[in-house]
Amino acid sequence: MGTFALVAFTYFIAKYHNVKVAVYGTHKFEKGMLEKANAGEHTLEFIEPRLTPATAVLSEGCDAVCLFVSDQANAQVLTQLHKQGIRFIAMRCAGYNNVDLGRAAALGIRIARVPAYSPYAVAEHAVALMLGLNRKLVRAHNRVMDLNFALDGLTGFDMNGKTAGIAGTGKIGAAVARILHGFGCRLLLYDKYHEEQLVKNYGAEYTSFESLCNQSDIITLHLPLLPDTKYIVNSASIATMKPGVMLVNTSRGALVNTSDVVAGLKSGQIGYFGMDVYEEEEGLFFEDHSDEILQDDTIARLMAFNNVLITSHQAFLTDTALNNIATTTFFNIGCFANNAPCENEIMAK
Ligand code: NAD
Repeated sequence: MGTFALVAFTYFIAKYHNVKVAVYGTHKFEKGMLEKANAGEHTLEFIEPRLTPATAVLSEGCDAVCLFVSDQANAQVLTQLHKQGIRFIAMRCAGYNNVDLGRAAALGIRIARVPAYSPYAVAEHAVALMLGLNRKLVRAHNRVMDLNFALDGLTGFDMNGKTAGIAGTGKIGAAVARILHGFGCRLLLYDKYHEEQLVKNYGAEYTSFESLCNQSDIITLHLPLLPDTKYIVNSASIATMKPGVMLVNTSRGALVNTSDVVAGLKSGQIGYFGMDVYEEEEGLFFEDHSDEILQDDTIARLMAFNNVLITSHQAFLTDTALNNIATTTFFNIGCFANNAPCENEIMAK
């Protein structure tokens, strides 16, 4: 072998060190994109069930696991994975509240995520929920399918001129602000960090969460789930909202106390509720339960309101977002394979 061939061969081995990855909770909608982004570089083991203490054993013989929002990477599961030889977790999502970071660090398991794949996907879905609720699109469609072309009960409101309160003005909240500015909404913002461009370009105004609740016709949540944001919407904050307010949550279920929201809907204090996330969604969302008896009484109650619109954690689900998720996930896996630093790595605090 000549010198050039040897160098090229060594580079190839160094660059394309193959690892075996167990992809938990694989859905049909993402498998093709993941295979395309991997381009045959690493060995992928697609596993349909999500990661739980019972399914941890399925990644035996792998070097890494690839996880999503509903996988359970708690201390017990991480210990089991480590025993099996897992040294890397590639999250194919931005959030990582389902991973015990401290335990992973103690075990020497590295974790990387996809910090941003398409804020537009989530922002546009939040606005879709607003419009669907406001213009009662599901009710209207169902009526027409029943040859009922009457309009009574379908009156909506102009978004133009209404006050929209955006809690969390990071990547997604800022995208929502730009869309709603286009609708002619007045924008009230809440965030511990102020995005001055939103103030300068769109006449938006930062305020406290209390004052946002007090003044907004529409409230949309884009905060991460943290100890200080858990149940930020509760009976006390709901009581300060405008009667008949529209509440939309596309962030994380536990930002709202769901029982308090049900009470608010029953009293009419909340006039509309759009939810893409649910605090008890684990084991329910992302799966087909159509042959089963629904056991969750809270979601059953929510489903009974005609002013509640529920989607099953699909705000991220666009082709652009899936493609970006797949590409970044395999960039992260490549960093692990080559023992290289990774800009998307999550460190325990
Ligand atoms: P981001 O990190 O860009 O923005 C979060 C914002 O929240 C930041 O501006 C931060 O300053 C602010 N913040 C954090 N803690 C706060 C606090 N205690 N008080 C006030 N402000 C606080 O995140 P992002 O990309 O905009 O995503 C927001 C959330 O959307 C994610 O955390 C995730 O839960 C959710 N999400 C949902 C989906 C979906 O499919 N439904 C997809 C992606 C993300």
